[in-house]
Amino acid sequence: MNVVIVGGGIVGCASAYYLAERGADVTLLERASLGAGATDRAAGGIRAQFSTDVGIRLSQAAISVWETFEDEFGVDVEYRRPGYLYLAREESTAALFEETVPFQNERGVDSRILDPADATEYVPGLRTERYVATAYCPTDGFADPHLGLQGFSIAANEAGAEIETGVAVTDLLVEGGGTGDGPAEDTGAGDGDRPDGRVVGVETTEGRYDADVVVNAAGSWSPKIAAMAGIDLPVTPRRRQALIVEPESPVPDSNPFVTDLDDGCYFRPERDGKALVGGHFGQDPVQDPDAYEQSHDLAWAADVVEHVATVADYFGPDSKLVRGWAGLYAMTPDHHPVIEESMPGLLTATGFSGHGFMLSPATGQVVAELALDGEATTVDVAPLARDRFERDAALHETYFSA
Ligand SMILES: Cc1cc2nc3c(=O)[nH]c(=O)nc-3n(C[C@H](O)[C@H](O)[C@H](O)COP(=O)(O)OP(=O)(O)OC[C@H]3O[C@@H](n4cnc5c(N)ncnc54)[C@H](O)[C@@H]3O)c2cc1C
Repeated sequence: MNVVIVGGGIVGCASAYYLAERGADVTLLERASLGAGATDRAAGGIRAQFSTDVGIRLSQAAISVWETFEDEFGVDVEYRRPGYLYLAREESTAALFEETVPFQNERGVDSRILDPADATEYVPGLRTERYVATAYCPTDGFADPHLGLQGFSIAANEAGAEIETGVAVTDLLVEGGGTGDGPAEDTGAGDGDRPDGRVVGVETTEGRYDADVVVNAAGSWSPKIAAMAGIDLPVTPRRRQALIVEPESPVPDSNPFVTDLDDGCYFRPERDGKALVGGHFGQDPVQDPDAYEQSHDLAWAADVVEHVATVADYFGPDSKLVRGWAGLYAMTPDHHPVIEESMPGLLTATGFSGHGFMLSPATGQVVAELALDGEATTVDVAPLARDRFERDAALHETYFSA
């Protein structure tokens, strides 16, 4: 089977590896360089604390790969597992923990509710007076997204995949229907209709590539790719920023990835006492992925440090900003991805809403199964079809701050 993958982020590279490993003839096309989209801008969080069955299953399948990544791929992704700690300021948020933690435990996630005072065992600097409850999972953690991307892309290459950078897909080739000649007319947002015809390849800046299956793994650009076949994806690019901070008191390496669900800020240890800090507050306009501001805003940087200073006492007034950046979340309305066969010959894996790095190993496996077997067996991804929004079957994620 001849497969063309559009997009050389972590989802495209993982898909390339799992397809090539199973014998598919794979070409991955990336218009810039590998990781140039969201992947190299991610915070690296990897967690099983989700609040839907499909989210937990995908995450568990992914974590089982992250656990053995170095043995399997020969790349140390610096996977560290000090856990994830979610914080509730409001009783209503604490009530969500009461529902979600048992739901997670039934599915094998080792999460637990902790009193804020008990959470200081993991986060010594926690400002306990701000919080009414916390949820903690000791096996969650984080890794280096760029190293993960390297591991998948090198392994994909070794398994026979062709990876071509500097090649932009300009059109999807549709036979027997569809438009096939550029962005289609609006078919109605995410209406789930399958356009007529079959995708048989792509047109690019370097000519035509024929394919039995095309995989749209173009992240925040995926709606533009889908529109080339008349498909309206419910995915919008939203700008998110991150910062490396040298806190006034060092953040211990054993500190979990901490997220304040009511405030929207988060931090995790970086190296040598530094912290990676992020969060989103206020307006959230849809961005043009070709023209968004890739540097962080100085006002946001000052603001986010003030926010994390209310969470933990590491971030006193002498904290220093080291560097920052901005990237895009490919967001769906329910913060879950779209993974589906969108029409014959076209698979879609996008809309990861800030979770695409962590879920990429499972996504790559599922994409290979959809292409080669016609159905996904690693995880049942039927709930992730884009028509869920029209079927009144949107998912609901509790553990999402912003
Ligand atoms: C600040 C920030 C923090 C984050 N933190 C986390 C985290 O802690 N954990 C986590 O799991 N996720 C996190 N994410 C999200 C994560 O980065 C994404 O979900 C993930 O990288 C998506 O990977 P992708 O391969 O789908 O998309 P991308 O990495 O965006 O890749 C898509 C690629 O498609 C290419 N492309 C676009 N158009 C074309 C075309 N026409 N032809 C060819 N190629 C094309 C682009 O150049 C790009 O390289 C974070 C994101 C940001 C911005």
